[in-house]
Amino acid sequence: MTRAISLHDVSKAYARGIRVVDRLSLDIAPGEFLVLLGPSGCGKSTVLRMIAGLEDIDEGRLFLDGEYGNDLPPSDRDMAMVFQNFALYPSMTSRDNIGFPLRIEAPGADPAPRVDATARMLGIEDLLDRFPAQLSGGERQRVAMGRAIARHPSAFLMDEPLSNLDAKLRNHLRAEISQLTRELGVTTVYVTHDQSEAMSLGDRVAVLRGGVLQQVGTPRTVYSLPSNVFVAAFIGTPRINLLRGLVRAPLDGAMTISLGKQFLRLPEPLSLDHQLLRVQQGREVIVGLRSEAVRIAKPAAARPGEVVLTGLVEHLEFQGHEVLVHFDTGSRPAVVPELEAPRPRPGRPARRRRRDGTVLDRLREKAGALRAGPVVTPDRPDPAVPAPASFEPRVPGDLVVRTTPDIRLRYGMQVPLLVDLAHLFVFDQNGERICPNPARLPDLEE
Ligand code: ADP
Ligand code: MG
Repeated sequence: MTRAISLHDVSKAYARGIRVVDRLSLDIAPGEFLVLLGPSGCGKSTVLRMIAGLEDIDEGRLFLDGEYGNDLPPSDRDMAMVFQNFALYPSMTSRDNIGFPLRIEAPGADPAPRVDATARMLGIEDLLDRFPAQLSGGERQRVAMGRAIARHPSAFLMDEPLSNLDAKLRNHLRAEISQLTRELGVTTVYVTHDQSEAMSLGDRVAVLRGGVLQQVGTPRTVYSLPSNVFVAAFIGTPRINLLRGLVRAPLDGAMTISLGKQFLRLPEPLSLDHQLLRVQQGREVIVGLRSEAVRIAKPAAARPGEVVLTGLVEHLEFQGHEVLVHFDTGSRPAVVPELEAPRPRPGRPARRRRRDGTVLDRLREKAGALRAGPVVTPDRPDPAVPAPASFEPRVPGDLVVRTTPDIRLRYGMQVPLLVDLAHLFVFDQNGERICPNPARLPDLEE
């Protein structure tokens, strides 16, 4: 049996009444693999623990197969949890660790057949007589998975089960988990801060930020139609380029988005998406360009819908099969604080500036930050905000473009760039998506 799990406006507060989960609503279908994704501290584990019954729900309701379940004791929920730190009993062999929950559940019955069947499924038959200390990290996590699976629960709850493993093993076990849960057809809620893990595993991905659900959708939808700038920035590698732009929509001329020293001229007639920008006339917006929206090519090679920018090569990142080129285009990057690591800025150390700054300077800085709205800060990330473990540090340049290694580029070169406006994302000051049209539905192929 596999279960449907529904959360209706569920909230949780710990100290000082601050909600770490804030009115979360989510319907998880029987047999679905749902990933809860978000930076460290955003409330993922708390949600999982509320579903498991290990944490009380302050407000809102939990339904299991349509039945009210807030007060159901964990043992009656028929769910198995897998943790990041493996959580095996050190004094028990793998066999006993896997068999332990079975013996609790049915004290008279012999757990051996189920333990053996589970071990075969996971390929750990030869590990059954070893103790946890005699196992590698990956082997321990397999045993922990075995303990969850052997019970035949109606749902799996997995809390960053692969985070303590090295990259190669992580990829391997990721594929195994995906295959296993699909074979078993058991509803799975999987918590991770790693977006690539979320995208490769999930039937759907639910993105959390500060305890608030930002979006839930298939990997394809959250990538191509992110509901806001946070989701856009959290999902996808290399990170989406986010530039601060200014919309100019004169009555008698072409609409443009200026990006500091350059601008994007929107082709006429305006597409339905771009027409939505008209009301932003004179306002600051955030332009989002994923690396597939920009290519290095001569202006003469521009296809319909492509416009030209110029970039100065600031940094090259060789990756073997491709090169990430960091360009300076003279625009200012927009920053999503939680996703950014503090970085020193050449020639302008923050501390010196603070000491030299007048009260007026500091006020101006504050006012600037306020104008930028709650989501995006104009300049630098707040050093007080810890970066999630999976963050990619920002390197010089405001625009990162992916290219093949055969293109010869050198630092300091001026290079023409073609921007495909069909792939343009625009977000408002609060980070909400304006383009593509927020009313647009995901593609039918989903
Ligand atoms: P995540 O799993 O996304 O990293 P958690 O759900 O563990 O986040 O935590 C969410 C927030 O709640 C964090 O700010 C964390 O410090 C806080 N928190 C978690 N557990 C407790 C607790 N038992 N008491 C007080 N605060 C807690
Ligand atoms: Mg956690």
